[in-house]
Amino acid sequence: MAQGFLVTDADNTLWDTNKVFADAQLAILEQVEASVGANTDRRDRLAFVRQFDQDIARRHEAGLKYPPVLLVQALVDALGAAALSDKLIDEIVASYFDVLAQKPRLRNGVRATLKWLNDAGVEIIVASEGREDRLRDNLDTHKLDALVSDLVIGRKNRAFFNDLYQRSGDACPRVCVGDQLDRDITPAKEAGFTTLYFPGGFRPSWEFELGAQDADRVIKSYADVKDAFSLRDAA
Ligand SMILES: [Mg+2]
Repeated sequence: MAQGFLVTDADNTLWDTNKVFADAQLAILEQVEASVGANTDRRDRLAFVRQFDQDIARRHEAGLKYPPVLLVQALVDALGAAALSDKLIDEIVASYFDVLAQKPRLRNGVRATLKWLNDAGVEIIVASEGREDRLRDNLDTHKLDALVSDLVIGRKNRAFFNDLYQRSGDACPRVCVGDQLDRDITPAKEAGFTTLYFPGGFRPSWEFELGAQDADRVIKSYADVKDAFSLRDAA
């Protein structure tokens, strides 16, 4: 019998997906600045880019998956330059996708904690709404695949977590950890999981408090997941 059951989110919980997007957006800004010969004077360069990014995403039917050429054009406008050539825009967009293809870094304590839990007999399930090939690739790159018993992909609603709860059998405790309150915490808690909210890197600090009381606990390091399992140190 498993000594517990952990459902862990992947993006921005196991690894820092936001950082990859931030790097790619900053790369766009840098190249637009170089192309138009003007720089933003905003000190928080990411916030400068994100104000346009959020604005486009809000208006575009594809939301955050809008075509990045729109961000390039918005930044060109914002820097008060005439339109760039199509060739230049294509180059900037291509390098954006190059940066975006880079592997996200693991968040602190992730591998050691999953190993500790796995050694202690906890069954570990990765649950995500992301793309399967990308997720498997990241698990493989970071050598987590052997520690994880399954990858479950689907829309994270109450039914999704009910299924996982059923699957846990009589394993106890049943814990869910993630960085999104509406996807990882609220529906998991409704299904009966003990929930750990692990905020991601780029969320404004006031949002950390907002609704965080829905979680059973807010954790600052992935290593804190261990505390939810009342196990002796397996080492
Ligand atoms: Mg996430």
